[in-house]
Amino acid sequence: MEKRRIAILGSTGSIGRQALDVIRQHRDLFEVELLTANNSTDLLIQQAIEFDANAVVICNEDRYGEVADALQPHYIKVFAGMQSVCDLVTGDNIDIVLTSMVGFSGLASTVAAVKAGKTIALANKETLVAAGSIVMNLAAQHRSRILPVDSEHSAIFQCLMGSAGADIEKIHLTASGGPFRTWTRQQIAQATRAQALNHPNWSMGSKITIDSATMMNKGLEIIEARWLFGTPGEKINVVIHPESIIHSMVEYADGSVIAQMGHPDMREAIQFAFSFPHRLTLDNCKLNFAELGSLSFFAPDQKKFPALGLAYEALAKGGNMACVMNAANEAAVAAFLQEKIGFYEITDVVAECMAGADFAANPDLDCIFETNEVTLAKAGEIIRRIQK
Ligand code: MG
Repeated sequence: MEKRRIAILGSTGSIGRQALDVIRQHRDLFEVELLTANNSTDLLIQQAIEFDANAVVICNEDRYGEVADALQPHYIKVFAGMQSVCDLVTGDNIDIVLTSMVGFSGLASTVAAVKAGKTIALANKETLVAAGSIVMNLAAQHRSRILPVDSEHSAIFQCLMGSAGADIEKIHLTASGGPFRTWTRQQIAQATRAQALNHPNWSMGSKITIDSATMMNKGLEIIEARWLFGTPGEKINVVIHPESIIHSMVEYADGSVIAQMGHPDMREAIQFAFSFPHRLTLDNCKLNFAELGSLSFFAPDQKKFPALGLAYEALAKGGNMACVMNAANEAAVAAFLQEKIGFYEITDVVAECMAGADFAANPDLDCIFETNEVTLAKAGEIIRRIQK
């Protein structure tokens, strides 16, 4: 395998840090060209020095001086602001762009990398939720390959390998069920921030952990799968699998189901996106089936987790509706994390924004950015009205 040169957008977050751990194990195969972070200057500086990055971007422009002073003796270039990220990802020195920023804020730089024909290791699912048809069309047009990093989608991608172009009959998207799987609706209604942040299997950032508790994460993943694999919503089935060993499955016309398995460790999916189509070693925990003993599966309870229904509804509506859903959810999750609203009010805010949305059937990128802005403002009003 030829050496691959990598940009990590959001290198100080959970995915970014795990990606650097993958690279640490294969320094001969991967080279870090670009690292970006919003605010975490200390870690960004430390990473840039350890991996001898060509350049870094600190998105918060107020913190530029601090990073520039620290990296100047190491001859590492330092830039500031989101526009710099969009400019630098197009550079000839970059083969793969890992998009591991949080939320809609990742859209502009992902689009820039796609237009430059880069291989995208896609961890930022909100990009495809908000602008799936636009991003996929641009990727086809500019021959940009999008490789999934989300564990479920990496699993589906792997289950499709060797299927010789056979049509997908069904995708079985597995979900851990999150921390409230066995709680009653009444108990979930009282859930605190700390309880929602306590995920049973996966260690992740706070936004996605709350999304897992509401199951909006699975809703976002249904839409992400629709765009990555061209599979309509009615062929995407969510199944609760609390052990998180099967990361997802693909069913073919003859009823044969292929599953991909492993312990819950994001580094497997990150590394496969970096090394595709090659397989490399990894210092992870290997499966011991005799020790596992059994795996269990349940149907999701849509009354306890209304986010799933909202996602299917947004997908069926099409246009800018999934963008509305995503923006409302980002605002509501932020409000929940600030303890301004209760747990079920997250999905209440999303439902109200979707019901009152200005629908656009064929949005362009400008319309998507505007939909996001307008929905954030609308969600902000709703949150002020209902906040405790
Ligand atoms: Mg996932």
